[in-house]
Amino acid sequence: MSEADPQSVRIGHGYDLHRLEPIAPMGQGRPFILAGIVFDHPVGPVGHSDGDAVYHALTDALLGAIGHPDIGQLFPDDDPRHEAADSSGFLIEAYRRVEEAGYRVGNADITVICERPKIGLRKSEMIANIARLLQCAPDQINVKGKTHEKMDSIGAGRAIEVHVVVLLRRMSS
Ligand code: MG
Repeated sequence: MSEADPQSVRIGHGYDLHRLEPIAPMGQGRPFILAGIVFDHPVGPVGHSDGDAVYHALTDALLGAIGHPDIGQLFPDDDPRHEAADSSGFLIEAYRRVEEAGYRVGNADITVICERPKIGLRKSEMIANIARLLQCAPDQINVKGKTHEKMDSIGAGRAIEVHVVVLLRRMSS
């Protein structure tokens, strides 16, 4: 495989946003979950599935990198099978497609933007979950936490946003 081969690496970008509301039955929020880690927090994501914005953005980044339909097309949010679904299932399917296309994860860089909770102390657990699902080493996955400086809906604690960039490397056959 030549380094000049334009298909030897593929880049994908993923983005997700969820509204945050008090946890049901006080509001419509589900338990606050990121990369499969549940945070003890009074508000949580409103969503059809479990609302895991990291898994959703990562799923879309992988699908985008291989030019496949996006998460909303593959797993419609009006499909009752995905009601309260564990979003790791979406990521597992996206990664299955990545492998089928002949690629593995080079690295993924993930930025989580929310005022609260602070994710710093639980980053390593999030990274461990992601690395397990993407069959790579933890040092191939990076998670950054930022606030929105109290600005706008995210800064007011009413939403969470996640951005992901992933690089895939083609496996030599
Ligand atoms: Mg989502």
